[in-house]
Amino acid sequence: MAVEDAPLASNAAPPQKAEAREPGAATRRLAVPGLRETLRTGLRGVLDLALPPRCPASGVVVARPGGLAPAAWDAIRFLGGPCCNSCGLPFEAPLPEETRCAACDARSPQYDRVRAALAYDEASRSLLLHFKHGDRTDLAPVFARWMARAGAEILDQADQLIPVPLHRARLWRRRYNQAALLARELGVVSGVVTDPTLLRRDRATPSQGRLSPLARQRNVRGAFKAPDSLKGSVKGRRLVLIDDVFTTGATLDECARVLKRAGAAQVDALCLARVLRARF
Ligand SMILES: [Zn+2]
Repeated sequence: MAVEDAPLASNAAPPQKAEAREPGAATRRLAVPGLRETLRTGLRGVLDLALPPRCPASGVVVARPGGLAPAAWDAIRFLGGPCCNSCGLPFEAPLPEETRCAACDARSPQYDRVRAALAYDEASRSLLLHFKHGDRTDLAPVFARWMARAGAEILDQADQLIPVPLHRARLWRRRYNQAALLARELGVVSGVVTDPTLLRRDRATPSQGRLSPLARQRNVRGAFKAPDSLKGSVKGRRLVLIDDVFTTGATLDECARVLKRAGAAQVDALCLARVLRARF
């Protein structure tokens, strides 16, 4: 299977400021149109020799930054088959399209549909941890392409993407919101507008890592707010929440509740990965 590579965001644009200071640079660019690309490729080759790009999952040296080693690629479980129409839990066999799992039937979540690109398991965990805590933000474009495939139907009908917000104290500690990076790249891939201002996290919540599903629900209750001044941008719209991992769905459920109360017509969600174990 082919290994998916993605260029680093920093490789996407040439260093404009440096060129602007160099007299006659534009003329030379026209005279030798392949020179810049040749220099860039050569520079990347030198850097790769000094610091060869490594697979974020396995640590094995790979051909291009952001690429996965073949073994890591094969180990990752991509989702996309028959699933619960609401929470996206994979089904073993095809069922009618509107079928929901027992958990969703029992509690009718506030979100309409959730889809995820990967199963959250041993194979994908290190990938996500490197992205979330290890500054591997260069992986966002690759992940966004995977998410766009898993959520093609949702994105086709979407008016706006909204990343699940971090509380400002946590954002300050982490320095970036991984959901916002994914939403930004998904906006590029899908052409759907991303607006991180439509939802904010007013209350800092303890980490949900060891909490039961019910405790998670209580933990996030009242944590999010749709600013009154922006409710006009939410009313009647089909919104898509973007997050990295779906665990019990408590966070997405609470975000969807707030957005629907603000007038949203539909709230779907798209995640990078999803926990598959029984939730309730
Ligand atoms: Zn379900």
